Order: sequence, then C-alpha cells, then structure tokens
Amino acid sequence: MPWLTCSKLTLFTIAGVAIQMVGLSIFVFGFFPVKPTLPGHSGPESFQAPKCNSIQNETERDLHPHQLRSLYKELSGMPPAFDRLILMVIDGLPAELVLGKDGKPPSKALMEAMPYTQSLLANGMAIGYHAKAAPPTVTMPRLKAMVSGAIGGFLDVALNFNTQAMLDDNLLDQFFKIGWKMVMLGDETWLKLFPGLFIRHDGVSSFFVKDTVQVDQNVSRHLGHELNKDDWDFLILHYLGLDHVGHIGGRNSALMAPKLSEMDDVVKMIHMSSILNQKNDQGQTLLVVVSDHGMTESGNHGGSSYEETDSLALFIGLNNDISDYSLSTHNIIYQVDIAPTLALLFGVPIPKNNVGVLIAEIFGYLADDQQLKALELNSWQLLRLLQAQMPGLSCRNYLCDGFSDDQESKITKCSGSMGKMFCCLYTNAALLQNSWMSKEFSRSKSKEDYSSAVTAYYEFLRTAKTCQPTYSRNCCNAPVLSDIIKPSI
Ligand SMILES: [Zn+2]
Repeated sequence: MPWLTCSKLTLFTIAGVAIQMVGLSIFVFGFFPVKPTLPGHSGPESFQAPKCNSIQNETERDLHPHQLRSLYKELSGMPPAFDRLILMVIDGLPAELVLGKDGKPPSKALMEAMPYTQSLLANGMAIGYHAKAAPPTVTMPRLKAMVSGAIGGFLDVALNFNTQAMLDDNLLDQFFKIGWKMVMLGDETWLKLFPGLFIRHDGVSSFFVKDTVQVDQNVSRHLGHELNKDDWDFLILHYLGLDHVGHIGGRNSALMAPKLSEMDDVVKMIHMSSILNQKNDQGQTLLVVVSDHGMTESGNHGGSSYEETDSLALFIGLNNDISDYSLSTHNIIYQVDIAPTLALLFGVPIPKNNVGVLIAEIFGYLADDQQLKALELNSWQLLRLLQAQMPGLSCRNYLCDGFSDDQESKITKCSGSMGKMFCCLYTNAALLQNSWMSKEFSRSKSKEDYSSAVTAYYEFLRTAKTCQPTYSRNCCNAPVLSDIIKPSI
C-alpha cells in the first residue's frame, strides 16, 4: 500500500484517537451531567424580588433562630400552616400500590392491606400523589431531591455507597436555622447526610437486605415514646423493610401485604395520636408519607422505568377541605415539588437549587392573595437559580422598575431565546397578579382575573423547570398567549 506512508498513518491514528476522545467526552458529559449548584443557603432575601434586594444575608447572622423565624413570617406575609412535621419514608414503595394506576384503584388485596390509609384517602382526609422520581432511583439521591428540590446527577449512584454530608441548601438546614429540634429513626443515610443535626436518632443499616422485620421494629419501638414528647419539631421515620421485601421476592412477594399492613398501623398510630388528638403544647402536626423510589415487578430499582420512578407523596392532616381532590386522577407531581411545598407550609425560604413547583391543592387553605404570594415566592427562587445559570438573564426592567397603569395591555406573547421567554412569562404573571391586586373592591376582583394570574405563574414555573439546563436538555416551546390568559383552573 504505497499511499499509506508513515506520516499518513500517524495522522490517521491521531485523528482516530481524537474522535474517540470527543465521543467519550460527549458520553461522559451527557450521562454524568455536571450540575452547577448555588452555594450557601436562601435567607431573608428570598422574600424580595431578585436584584431588588434591600435585605442582605448579613442581617441573618445576628439573629437568634426565633427572631429569624419571626422575620420570615413577617416578610412572607403567610403564617406557617403547621408547627410540627412528621416525615415517614417507606423505602421502595411504588405509589401504584396505594393509589392505583390510571384512575383505577389498587387490587382488593392491596386495598385491604392498608384499610386506615385507604379510608383517609376515601374520606378526603388525605391527599396522595404519584411523585415522579428522577433516575437514579436509589435512596441517597432521592432523599436529597426531596429535601432540596434539586435533581442530582448519575454520579450520585456511585456516591450512594459512600454518602457524604449534604452541603447544598436543603429543608433540614433551613429548619435548623429557625431553631427546630429534629429526631431521626431508621435508615442511617440521614445521619450521614446530616451529621450533628438530630437531637436523638437511632440509625439502622440498609446493608442486611434479608432482614425485613428487625429493621422496621428498630424504628417503631421508639414511636409511642416520641409521639408523646413535645421537644421536637421534625420527626423522620425511615422504614427499610418494604424495600427489602421487594429485593427478596418482588412486588408480589407473600411478605408484601403484611408489610403494607404494618405500615398502615404506623400511619394509624400517628394520625390518631398526633393529628386527631393533638395536645395543646405540641402544636399542629402534618404527616407526610413518602417513598424515595418504586421498584420493578422483580423488586429491583435504580433505573428510569415507570415502576421504579413511581414514588409516593401522601399528605395527612391538611386544614383545607380536600374531598374534591381525593378522587382526582390529576394526582401526578414531581418528587422535587415536595421541597418548595414544605418550605412554604412551614415558613422557611425555598432551598436555593430547587427546581420544584409548589403543589397547588395543598395551599387551598390560603386566601387568594396569599396563594398568589406563594407562587410569587416560588417564582423568585427559580428566577434566582436561572440567573445564576444564565448570566445574561436579568428581567431587570420588569423586576425593579415596578408596574405602571394599563398593565393588562402589556401582556405579550412569549417567544424568542430561552432567557427572553423566562422574563416574558414571569412578567406576564406578575402583571396579572398586580392588576388583580390593584382592584380595590372585592366585587371587581373577578375569579377569572385571579385564575389567569395563577395559570400564568404555573406557566412560568413549569417552563422554568422543564427548560432547566440541569433538568432537561430539550427546552419546551413557548406557550401560546391564549393558553396563558384562559382561566383553566
Ligand atoms: Zn431506597
């Protein structure tokens, strides 16, 4: 082959290696996306529009936790709905086993395994969601997503076995800052993520997957004692047994129904002692039952199938009448939506890297203007995150210059670059809110105007979430103006 000289062969080899390197880089950065996170924690500035801060983080440093709690209350204009939170994590429980699928209830055997929980749902005393979890569907990254509202990368799978303390902004740190006392019983992953944060804890290891009994008894044995105490504000219970049942025998294991029944007894015990018969000195309690991920038919998890990502979020003890929603089939949220929802319910700033959107029905107890305020706070936090990820994004004219008369005529169709669209969608929502708020008499405050503002806020929040560089690489199309304006709630 006379045409293949030594120098040509060298060039071909170098080109081949270069192409391989490019391919490998595309694979690595695609499969393990580098997630830029904002350092630090949200503070009093969360209650101000971005770039118009009059309150800086410095004021926070001098404040006693109780003063900080009062400051948040004053700035948000929304009193916290609850005093205490119980988060019950049932590891590996697919939401389908409790809520059914496609509007159909679960099988008779599953319904009968959880009579108390099913009666709460049927009577409108609980509201349940399929909380779509992002892959990888393993415990540590999913717990992080629930408490921070941020999506981790696939690199977290490797870290799952060597868990480090969580440094990014999250609900537990926010609660700690306002002086909350916290107790953790169950999976020791919590202790590794949040060392030194709990006043009492009893961690169990997830290493012995053959153990489906002791691992949960270690949690429940403290329950009666803890429910009678009034020295904590946040109780975490993390039951590992159901995940272990799955690993041994899959979803249809003979051990599954008895395990669900055991979990139902825990829900019943908490509901009866802390929500129905709450003692005055303990304050009002909210019980949130969640799962970190689901499982396949054979009981495995880690991937992105429906069975594995179908996790549960069940809210028990809400103040508002939720009977209308109990039979709703629109009960799909994202797992990250739990973080902003709990932050606003308990009066702390939404964690900095959150991409979740607050769950509308949960805030039904608030007055109309307060519901808009909650959406505004969620939007400000997401705008701040977007500004950090897209340095050119300021929306400054709209955020800082305020709004003038004839606001509704300024509603525009949103198009153009991602940045322009975010600003435009946010501005539309803020204009509609401002317009509704400025109408002095309640008679002129029409329900349609209110609905338009709510719809516009959700349009911004959902677009900001799905267009997140860290969430999805495919930016969605700008919604059509008529979709924004039409009152669809
Ligand atoms: Zn798990």
